[in-house]
Amino acid sequence: MQERALRRALARDEFALFLQPIVRLATGQLAGFEALIRWHDPERGLVSPASFIPAAEANGLILAVTAWVIGAIGRIVPRVLEAGLRAPASVEPSLFVSFNVTAQDLARSDICGLVDAMLRRSGIAPGALKLEITESALMQDPAGAAAALARCRAAGLGIAVDDFGTGYSSLSHLSTLPITTLKVDRAFVRAMLAEPRDRRIVQTILRLADEIGVVAVAEGIEGRAEAEALAAMGCALGQGYHFGRPMPEADALAAAAAWNAEAWRCGLSRGADQDRPRVHARA
Ligand code: C2E
Ligand code: MG
Ligand code: MG
Repeated sequence: MQERALRRALARDEFALFLQPIVRLATGQLAGFEALIRWHDPERGLVSPASFIPAAEANGLILAVTAWVIGAIGRIVPRVLEAGLRAPASVEPSLFVSFNVTAQDLARSDICGLVDAMLRRSGIAPGALKLEITESALMQDPAGAAAALARCRAAGLGIAVDDFGTGYSSLSHLSTLPITTLKVDRAFVRAMLAEPRDRRIVQTILRLADEIGVVAVAEGIEGRAEAEALAAMGCALGQGYHFGRPMPEADALAAAAAWNAEAWRCGLSRGADQDRPRVHARA
């Protein structure tokens, strides 16, 4: 059933990319967005990727889904970068958009060729894009993934390891991959204030990122206390409902154009009980 519905969704263009802000914790500046797919199923409404990406991986349609994502990135990113220019003090000039790919995309499709063609069509600078692959997907075929990722990295894209800390990667594999970013899994972020053990795991991942010279992003920041704690621990970037939910393109463009870094800065110089404006967002 899911396969037929997915084929129809591809044929009728029923997908959309939502965008979630990624923030530089020390300054509050908008550093980027993660693009997250949504399916507007005419029967079920908005469907979460957690329920159809695994199905698309099982029936092989994931390659077509990812090709759709790359096409959409080519349309959306120029508008996002332009919106960011309207808030130059609050949006980093190196604003990026990351998108998710799977192990199958790396093993079975010419992802780098697809991205390359999209970059030429859209005029987007490769450095404005980051490819996210989960740690567990990487470990399915580390050698195959390494070759595809190396080509993408050589083309200028950033490479992020997603959900880091849950995928049992060996550090020797990690050191052979051309990665630029580690995303700390939200399970640790969620638990870190209550559980000293999770806090130490976060601290260890941040130290590892520092040692291997990559940027750390904490995922799933839902409250100011976590954001402040992560900033104090030296985590560079943060993402989570606290800063904004994944939102439709129009809302993301409005959020970028009106971003107020001061309101989101984490650290001692900010008033502790300052009210934080929330990004207007829908889940
Ligand atoms: P992910 O790449 O780790 O994306 C982060 C997920 O965490 C998103 O779920 C996001 O909505 C959610 N999230 C962000 N901040 C918070 C927070 O503060 N609290 C909580 N509880 N959740 C938060 P989403 O959009 O449902 O996506 C789920 C997963 O589906 C993604 O995890 C990613 O692995 C996959 N996915 C999403 N879009 C795509 C895509 O275009 N292609 C592929 N292959 N996979 C995708
Ligand atoms: Mg991701
Ligand atoms: Mg993640």
